[in-house]
Amino acid sequence: MIETVATVESNLEITPGYRLLTLNFDEEVEARAGQFAMLRARASFEPLLRRALAVYRVAGKRQLSFLYQILGRGTEQLSFVERGGEVEALVPLGNSWPVEMPERSSVEASRRAIVVAGGIGSASVLMLCEELARARIDTQIFFGAASGRVASGCGLEDFRALGLPLTITTDDGSLGERGFVTAPLERHLRDEVSKKSLRGADSTIYACGPWPMMARVNEIAARFDARCLVSLEAPMGCGFGVCVGCVVAVKTDGPLGYASYRRVCTDGTIFSADTIRWEVNAMSH
Ligand SMILES: Cc1cc2nc3c(=O)[nH]c(=O)nc-3n(C[C@H](O)[C@H](O)[C@H](O)COP(=O)(O)OP(=O)(O)OC[C@H]3O[C@@H](n4cnc5c(N)ncnc54)[C@H](O)[C@@H]3O)c2cc1C
Repeated sequence: MIETVATVESNLEITPGYRLLTLNFDEEVEARAGQFAMLRARASFEPLLRRALAVYRVAGKRQLSFLYQILGRGTEQLSFVERGGEVEALVPLGNSWPVEMPERSSVEASRRAIVVAGGIGSASVLMLCEELARARIDTQIFFGAASGRVASGCGLEDFRALGLPLTITTDDGSLGERGFVTAPLERHLRDEVSKKSLRGADSTIYACGPWPMMARVNEIAARFDARCLVSLEAPMGCGFGVCVGCVVAVKTDGPLGYASYRRVCTDGTIFSADTIRWEVNAMSH
């Protein structure tokens, strides 16, 4: 992890409210798929705390891109930084998406992946999809967004460019299938299991998106006995395990029967979905 000041190469509006920020670093940065950075516009006095953004793309060893939605003060300040401006950065943070398949899969059917991206959660999985494609793993992408406009803000064209099978849903039906992304995911698993006599356990589901989406993906994965990994985007203060602001309840029992928690920033952000206490965390996310 390095703490540094990066220089803005570009900060492009993709669609109103969504931008792609590309930063140049003086030092080399080894960022893997699924990792994130804590970023803050250097010129602004507030907010004081950096904001978490997933590494969207890597170019060479000194350039990283971040796809972000302008939500509140931190991302708004970032949106004002122009080419040549400075961004305070702590990077790379968190664990990364594992691309190897689980041992329980049969050799023949083991190389199958399902990627579920919900809204700006897409930013965490583009590099994962690139890695799965490079590893020649049979990959299906399910991409859900509120509308067609939001989908393009969330990098839809970059996902299309991968040339992998891609199912799009929008809440308002303006693009792709109307409804939540979990509906075609469920259909897909049902069809796969029935038509091709494959087991759900032969697939690994990778998901990043809003909390209710990931909770539902976990339920579907459990039903089909598929391995499921989620990247949790809990709001966080420091990003390196000190403030404990991002904890989530997990199923492991703590001492004396107390609930057990994990820090999303340093124990994750990627967790096996079946270890998370979804019903408890739903109250705070
Ligand atoms: C590991 C990680 C990776 C992330 N990657 C990306 C990314 O690649 N692109 C991107 O656009 N966003 C990403 N986010 C979310 C992003 O960090 C928040 O949207 C950002 O912190 C908002 O800061 P702000 O100052 O603009 O808004 P704030 O003023 O902090 O918040 C505005 C509103 O959004 C809510 N909010 C803040 N953070 C979150 C959150 N994480 N989830 C849900 N609601 C939240 C607040 O409760 C508040 O109501 C990521 C979050 C995490 C933890």
